[in-house]
Amino acid sequence: MDTQTALAVFAEYGVQGVQVDEPMRRHTTWRIGGPADLFFRPTSVVELQNVLRATKFLGLSVTVVGRGSNLLVLDGGIRGLVVQLHDPFSRWTLVDGRMITQSGRALISIANIAIREGMAGLEFATGIPGTVGGAVMMNAGAHGGEIKDVLLWADVVNFDGSLQRMTREELQFDYRYSVLKEHPAIVATAAFGLHPGNRQEMTARVRQWAQRRATTQPLSLPNCGSVFRNPPGEHAAALIEQAGLKGLTCGGAQISEKHSNFIVNLGTATAKDVLWLIRYAQVTVRDRYGIQLETEVRVIGEPESALGR
Ligand SMILES: Cc1cc2nc3c(=O)[nH]c(=O)nc-3n(C[C@H](O)[C@H](O)[C@H](O)COP(=O)(O)OP(=O)(O)OC[C@H]3O[C@@H](n4cnc5c(N)ncnc54)[C@H](O)[C@@H]3O)c2cc1C
Repeated sequence: MDTQTALAVFAEYGVQGVQVDEPMRRHTTWRIGGPADLFFRPTSVVELQNVLRATKFLGLSVTVVGRGSNLLVLDGGIRGLVVQLHDPFSRWTLVDGRMITQSGRALISIANIAIREGMAGLEFATGIPGTVGGAVMMNAGAHGGEIKDVLLWADVVNFDGSLQRMTREELQFDYRYSVLKEHPAIVATAAFGLHPGNRQEMTARVRQWAQRRATTQPLSLPNCGSVFRNPPGEHAAALIEQAGLKGLTCGGAQISEKHSNFIVNLGTATAKDVLWLIRYAQVTVRDRYGIQLETEVRVIGEPESALGR
């Protein structure tokens, strides 16, 4: 189906503003990624449902993204529709210790609001640069805290447009895992249970964490946080460093000299460069230590060769 027909179908479903051939490098913290055929940011749950229904009718695939802070989008881009839950989808309320927020809200913003209001539970999230939706999907965590510790429920929209409330138990959280990895659906709203806390104490704690991040992580260069999951009882960064890979470069990508579990974009990195470093680190660590490093970063899209479509 050609793009004009697809746009006409979206319009029939009440969906306006779908972008064509949108470079995904604009939407990932690595600043890497080929074009999305179609790209849309819903502003309401109804609009999200409508776009999913139209996409189903068109027989197109759907890819969900937030702030792209855990994504490697390949150089050939993404076929079908990319739905980005971002700023316009970011209303929140805080009543009686319940923070209810739309999934496009930046997690850092929600965590800072909670602290400002003297409510504890989300301080761990003040350095995680994703959206609420991406954080729920990934069970994001830091400093001993995880989304699963505070989430009460999430409203998800299935790819047929139906809406469903899922409890913490139903989401089956584990280390950087939720059931949404196997049964994809779009997190639309999340509710967090918070409790009264001391604002000064919380502020001092998160300042300390921010300082530690600034000294240990290469935050001045585009990156995607930790590339690999920590294997049980091990640290991926230590394994990569011991294997002598710190500072290794491929094209415009480099295994960070500051933190070996980060790969940074020196300015001209392609997904191909990053993938090469990922594979090289995996093979080297496996050969040296018999440990298979698994990526935490989600790799999506098509290789460069797909661009000649
Ligand atoms: C500097 C830096 C530091 C980081 N530190 C941490 C850390 O301390 N702890 C940690 O856990 N992570 C960390 N991360 C990784 C990242 O921020 C988290 O994984 C975050 O939760 C991803 O959210 P996102 O909105 O960017 O998701 P994206 O990267 O856009 O997407 C990640 C996955 O979530 C899915 N997704 C996104 N939105 C939704 C939605 N609304 N519904 C359903 N699925 C969705 C996507 O399809 C994809 O599979 C860091 C990243 C960076 C760049």
